[in-house]
Amino acid sequence: MARIIAGKEIVTSMNGALRQETALLREQGCTPTLAVVRIGDRPESAAYQAGATKRCETLGIAVQSLILPENSSLGEVLQVIEALNLSPRVHGVLLLRPFPPHLDDRAIRDALCCEKDVDGVTSLSLYGVFTGVRQGFPPCTAQACIDILDYCGVSLRGKRAVVVGASLVIGRPVAMMLLARGATVTLCHIDTVDLPSECRRAELLIAAAGARALLNKDCLSPGQVILDVGVTVGPDGRLYGDVDFEAANSVAEALTPVPGGVGTVTTTILAKHVIEAAKRSLPQQQR
Ligand code: NAD
Repeated sequence: MARIIAGKEIVTSMNGALRQETALLREQGCTPTLAVVRIGDRPESAAYQAGATKRCETLGIAVQSLILPENSSLGEVLQVIEALNLSPRVHGVLLLRPFPPHLDDRAIRDALCCEKDVDGVTSLSLYGVFTGVRQGFPPCTAQACIDILDYCGVSLRGKRAVVVGASLVIGRPVAMMLLARGATVTLCHIDTVDLPSECRRAELLIAAAGARALLNKDCLSPGQVILDVGVTVGPDGRLYGDVDFEAANSVAEALTPVPGGVGTVTTTILAKHVIEAAKRSLPQQQR
């Protein structure tokens, strides 16, 4: 049986330090504040917004919700983002995606200033992840994967890591972060010819494709550490990961469940980034 890595345990271990940092900032007259921008009424976005708001508020972070109508024009959305960029009271901005299809995703993302880009969506933040230059923030889910590996004491130097899924939200940034820590990384995607044999060679396997039980027993080998980032809603309304849980449980060394794994840690990373953004906004001598 694999060690099941519970996201809640990791979150609990982080909470104390984050609460302390928030309290310290508040004593200095700075209340870490997150603005969440949602365009339209997608239930998934509303659910993520509710979860992120609750997590931030329990850590002492103030949250402002901005809900724009589904038919907002690009100009209207950019105006809202510009106002948030200029507001000294807002330290981090979370843009809930996907945006309605008539809006230009990239234009909206890149309108956000990277100092407030706590979920790593701007080109400048991603440049930071890819080059190692400290600017903006890495995407929260990618950082959650790294923090989980750190918590579990998994050393990455020299490890064979396989990431399945190559989006800019998770696959590509997490691959770069693993590379920066000395792993030898293979990045798989929809056109990968022999996914099972690529995956079997992995010592660390990160699944982020959004395809239920894509990684079945043919993709797994004994002793792997597996992080399952994928989330798919089944016809039964339950959440499923990209990894066949039963198959993985019988061969892996350690495994994150869905739900209750990477997703649980992601919102705490968001809170951590807001606190860091608030700290960076203070004059150097007050940090
Ligand atoms: P995406 O659709 O933008 O990208 C999916 C990637 O997976 C692509 O690179 C695609 O080539 C690859 N892929 C898809 N099907 C494949 C297959 N059959 N074989 C090999 N590669 C395949 O999705 P995304 O935004 O990167 O999200 C991926 C998954 O991660 C989704 O299930 C999403 O819900 C989940 N997610 C979870 C969190 C979290 O905090 N847990 C956060 C973000 C995304």
